[in-house]
Amino acid sequence: MPDQRISAQPDPTVDPALRSWVEVPLDSGFPIQNLPYGVFRRPGEMSRPGVAIGDQVVDLAGVAGLGLLDDDLDARELLVHPSLDALLAAGRPTWTALRRALSRLLRADTADLRDHPRRGELLIPQSEVQMLLPFVVSDHADFYGSIEHATTMGRLYRPGDHDPLLPQFRHLPIGGHRRARGVVVSDTPIARPSGLRRAADGAAPVYGACEQLDFEVELAFVTGGANPPGQPIPIESAGEHIFGFVVLNDWSARDIQRYEAMPFGPFASKFMATVSPWVVTTEALGPWRVPGPSQDPPVAEYLRCREPWNLHVTLETRLQTRARRERGLPPAVVASTTTERLYWSAAQALAHLTVTGGPMAPGGVYGLGTVSGWQPEEKGCLVERTLNGAEPLTLDDGEQRTFLRDGDEVSIHGWADGPGYRLSFGAARGAIAAAHDPQRGRQHALSRTR
Ligand code: MN
Repeated sequence: MPDQRISAQPDPTVDPALRSWVEVPLDSGFPIQNLPYGVFRRPGEMSRPGVAIGDQVVDLAGVAGLGLLDDDLDARELLVHPSLDALLAAGRPTWTALRRALSRLLRADTADLRDHPRRGELLIPQSEVQMLLPFVVSDHADFYGSIEHATTMGRLYRPGDHDPLLPQFRHLPIGGHRRARGVVVSDTPIARPSGLRRAADGAAPVYGACEQLDFEVELAFVTGGANPPGQPIPIESAGEHIFGFVVLNDWSARDIQRYEAMPFGPFASKFMATVSPWVVTTEALGPWRVPGPSQDPPVAEYLRCREPWNLHVTLETRLQTRARRERGLPPAVVASTTTERLYWSAAQALAHLTVTGGPMAPGGVYGLGTVSGWQPEEKGCLVERTLNGAEPLTLDDGEQRTFLRDGDEVSIHGWADGPGYRLSFGAARGAIAAAHDPQRGRQHALSRTR
């Protein structure tokens, strides 16, 4: 049995008894125990880092500029920036010190900001700000950590196989590289992609707008610090590099994917991924860390983890359609699933990502893979839910979907409940816009190559 102890020192920033002088509604999801990091902008102003508390954002550049954080933190160096890049590069000791300083500053019994004459400028209603991608995404990969998802996909895509799970599934976290520039923040429109898909047997493939556009419900970890080339990150050091987590929608063009994916994995079909604007820190998630499922056969030494690194997070997916919007109906809940049963944890994914000595820079976004359960309502993508379009999903207003239509808006909401409070990730939301005219795109490309 692995030793499943949690670190001995209790973390004062997640004490359920903590209260802030900022008013936090009970159902807010942003109590003082959360303090997720993001980057915001008000119209006409520069973008800058903030933490969410209640329905407000604390302007971290402003707070650091006034010297309200501990001197030994170099808070100006870290926070007077248009992004979180400097903070991500700084590493674990700085992250822990900053979080403790912010928790102390916002605590009910700390007067420094509470009674400061400029407090009104430094606390901004979330409703007045636009959220931006909070850091330069240096790298993006996606894993395949859900045994339920991998099994269903194996049955759908390799129906002749005796075992729908590939033999290596239980030996290592299977992953694939994606494009860093494809990671966008919530509320960025998603244009329907075009590409090649298989035609009838023997016929040439067809180029056109994707007809099987899908979502994938995921949690992703955000990395900081770096490892030099040739030096793997040992699994027991994962906490030094995992800054926090975001909700991620890994948009997937299934018809394009099916034609291109063998033998090298999905490529153009994985074109964009939408992330929630708030990065919930590893410390804030401490109370929700749980041991993962037992792994049989036993995994290689470099993947053996003594600390619990699975998370008990709920991911709820809502679909808003044009018809529902026109009739004044709220979005329909189309999937609800939790992440604690993922076969491979974030720590194992990071250890595997670097086991060969491949370097990692601050600002990596690594998806843990589509989170699915065995029940239909736990399926984290439409291809699984509808068995590749064979069984349409019927919404509560009678509308049906096999895959996404133009005008559909998908929002994935993440949260964790208890002890005594809710911790929210916000949502990863994106609406599908019509494809760029494939014919015009082709002619444009041809005219440029002539
Ligand atoms: Mn994925």
